[in-house]
Amino acid sequence: MLTTVALVKGPELLKYSFPAPHPMNSRRIESFYEKVETLPKEMLEALKIVAPKMATREEVALFHDADYIEFVNKKSMEGRGYLDSGDTPSFPGIFEAACYVVGSTLELCRIILSGSVKRGFNPMGGLHHARRSSASGFCVFNDPGVAITYLLEVAGLGAVAYVDIDAHHGDGVCYEFYEDKRVVFADIHQDGRTLYPGTGFRHERGRGEGEGLKLNIPLPPGSGDEEFKAAMLEVKDFLMAHDFDFILFQCGADGIMGDPITDLNYTPASHKLAAEILCDVANKKCGGRILAMGGGGYNPENVADAWTNVVKVFVEKP
Ligand SMILES: [Zn+2]
Repeated sequence: MLTTVALVKGPELLKYSFPAPHPMNSRRIESFYEKVETLPKEMLEALKIVAPKMATREEVALFHDADYIEFVNKKSMEGRGYLDSGDTPSFPGIFEAACYVVGSTLELCRIILSGSVKRGFNPMGGLHHARRSSASGFCVFNDPGVAITYLLEVAGLGAVAYVDIDAHHGDGVCYEFYEDKRVVFADIHQDGRTLYPGTGFRHERGRGEGEGLKLNIPLPPGSGDEEFKAAMLEVKDFLMAHDFDFILFQCGADGIMGDPITDLNYTPASHKLAAEILCDVANKKCGGRILAMGGGGYNPENVADAWTNVVKVFVEKP
């Protein structure tokens, strides 16, 4: 018996693409969609294709400051320059493209909350570096941040778990919810002393009411599947020790060997393992509700293999 999985698919998601030679471009997403098409027919039939949806300004403002939203809108109309100090270029229509990423993640939240499916995937989601009032590291609007706020403040959930296996630390999510006891945060990433954004150390465990609810696991450059597995089992124990009503899973594929901008050596088997563990945790803790977001990954073949593994696990696991 296969599980129905909601997958966001449509040309609007491909618009979040920086001009060549920038590594964050639509080829990564196209490569993933092409690989998904090679899955067996019965698995394809288990996918519920969801059209990308554009977030409203009010929705983006659940997480982002109004001044920053207007700044992005203005830079988008100008269509040139940078939104930050040099990682995140502007282009005509970047505002709408970023709103589609956020709106698509929110649409999956709504579909999963409705109970019609328990698992979803937005390949363009997971833009975890954006802060409330600034762009950062290729990320304009922080769709996980908007989704977390939506789930807590609009849908009224008591707590949300956020798990991030992107090679880069999910600083935008970590620090913007650092004191929030309703956000159970776990992040496995390349050691910040050797990679952007230079954060996410072991001692960073939250503050105030959030103390002890953030788990940061930095791995040395060169770490592979074995190191990832040990870290993921620690994440599992951490999650099982807390309560939450929904899992957000940022499954960045830039930790896989051969990525042009990081130094980790996972294989796509790590993504399979992470998805299996998190589906089990979700089934035990929160009625199975899990929403995956693609995140980084700058080698299109790796992206296709890793994310297709996540989709396969989502479909195959009860
Ligand atoms: Zn990354």
